[in-house]
This record gives sequence, C-alpha cells and structure tokens, in this order.
Amino acid sequence: MTDEYNRSGPHRSEVRRVGQVKEVTSRSNPIIKDIKNLTDKKHREETSTFMAEGLKLVIDALELGWSIRTLVYAKAAKSKPLVEQVAAKTVAHGGLVLEVSEKVLSSVTRRDNPQMVVGIFEQRWKRLDDLKPSKDETFVALDRVRDPGNLGTIIRTADAAGASGVILVGDCTDPFSLETVRATMGSVFAMPVVKCSPDDFLAWQKRSGVSVVATHLAGAVDYRTVDYARKPVVILMGNEQSGLPDNLARAADRTVRIPQQGRADSLNLAVATAVMLFEARRHLLTLDEKK
Ligand code: SAM
Repeated sequence: MTDEYNRSGPHRSEVRRVGQVKEVTSRSNPIIKDIKNLTDKKHREETSTFMAEGLKLVIDALELGWSIRTLVYAKAAKSKPLVEQVAAKTVAHGGLVLEVSEKVLSSVTRRDNPQMVVGIFEQRWKRLDDLKPSKDETFVALDRVRDPGNLGTIIRTADAAGASGVILVGDCTDPFSLETVRATMGSVFAMPVVKCSPDDFLAWQKRSGVSVVATHLAGAVDYRTVDYARKPVVILMGNEQSGLPDNLARAADRTVRIPQQGRADSLNLAVATAVMLFEARRHLLTLDEKK
C-alpha cells in the first residue's frame, strides 16, 4: 500500500453520493448468485472475471492496474478508511460496490470466517508473443498442470524468484479459480500468465531465442551443472501424473534431473519447480535486493 493510495481515497460519504453502494442481505440476490457462480470455470470464462479475497490483495491489484468489476465488503468493515478508499476507487472505475451481511459474504467465499473484502476482477492473459525474453529473464512452462494448489504455489514461487512469466502448455487447471488464486497469495496479480497449445509453445521456443531446460526423472544431466546465465531460460515442468511428453522433452535444449535419495519416486511438481527456479536464478538473487 503506498502513501499515494492512502492520500487519494475520498470519504465514504463521497461513495454514497455517487449512489453506487448497494446493501445486500439475501444470499439469493441475483448479483450474489452471479458472484457465487464464479466457482464454475465456465462462468469465469464467459464473464472473463474471477474473485480475489482480502483487502490487501484488492488494494495491491488496484495499484497494479487490474480492473475491478465489483467490490463486496462486510457491513462490519464499512467504516474502515482503507475499505472506504477501495470502495471509492471501485466506483471511480465504474464498478459496483456491495455492502453485505457476513452470512452473504460466507456464502460467496464458501468459508465460515470469510475475509471482510472480496474483489471481482477482469481476467488478464498474455500471449506468447507479448513475452520478449531477454538475458537474465526466466520463465516457467508447465505441461498440463492439473492441481490448483500446485499452480498457485508455482505462480507465487515464480514471483518470489523474480521470474518473468508462467506459460501454461496444453490443458491446464485455471489460474483464476478461487483455490489457485488463494494459493498465489496475491502473486496472480504480479505474474504474467500465458496459455498455449504444445505446438504453439514449440514454435515460440524456436523463434524467441530462449533456452529450454526440461526437467525429467530420466534426465542425464544434474540440474546444478547447467549454465543458466547465457540466455533467457524457460524451465519446463511435466504433468503431475505422467511427466513430460516425448515431443516436449526432445525439443528442449537440456533435459535435467534433480538428484534424489530415499524412497520417493519424484518431487512434488511445485517443489521441483521451486528448486529449479532458485537454481536458475541463483546468480541474480541477493539478500539485499527485493524488487
Ligand atoms: N510419474 C511422473 C513421471 O514419471 O515423470 C512424476 C511427475 S513429477 C510428480 C512432476 C514433475 O516434476 C516432473 O514431470 C518433473 O518436471 C518434475 N520433477 C519432480 N521430481 C523431479 C526430479 N527429481 N528431477 C527432475 N524433475 C522432477
């Protein structure tokens, strides 16, 4: 939250004056029903929106320029200055503000102790050609990631490691599902996300000048021996159940393995991605520098 944000917020009376705050006490209100439907992927796709919970997340998203369609807050939070400010910003951007009972908020988030504030935002996707990979940039490409918790954790980790984007290859779980958004802890607003087919990924790989480092349980190369500093790098990770398909593995510049001991067959996908990302960016990460 910046000082600018705190200074710029008008008072709630101004929100009221615009006449955009609706009070809702019924769980069967049509707008509330519509928001609840965002748990359904089809509805998210049709409306191109998604839900994010928590005042800090909503403030961060607005600061990063994400478009808010609806702000929902609990009656009990109505006099909090920051809630008044996000409400005013929502109205200023043409969005709707709903003041609801806790019962309604619980039904929207499907939680007994819901966050006091929920934002409905427009989805934002990048295309492969929007990514302009340059040296010192690292991307993560995920082949058919299925688990929302894994995807959310990977988006959060990619953000923390200073990666430049996450590429979803093939039929992946939705980055804008409630479970994934929760697991990103806000990084969904900071990390560019692309979705593409395997063929489109392979074509982009050829023309973009990146070095693709694929991870595979049969990889012959120790992941610590690769030079990650020469070119922009894409860390390519396989599906949770079946690993990387041959066509993606064969097209990679390197195929690496993380050495293991013990009885476990493999690492969890999100854990393996974290190990790879922090190794690939080791030469760029220092304790005294946080972007
Ligand atoms: N049964 C799958 C297989 O045979 O590949 C296991 C997949 S593993 C749970 C999911 C992904 O994490 C793998 O495709 C790979 O990208 C990565 N991974 C997990 N452990 C790894 C390791 N020790 N070395 C390299 N990659 C690993």
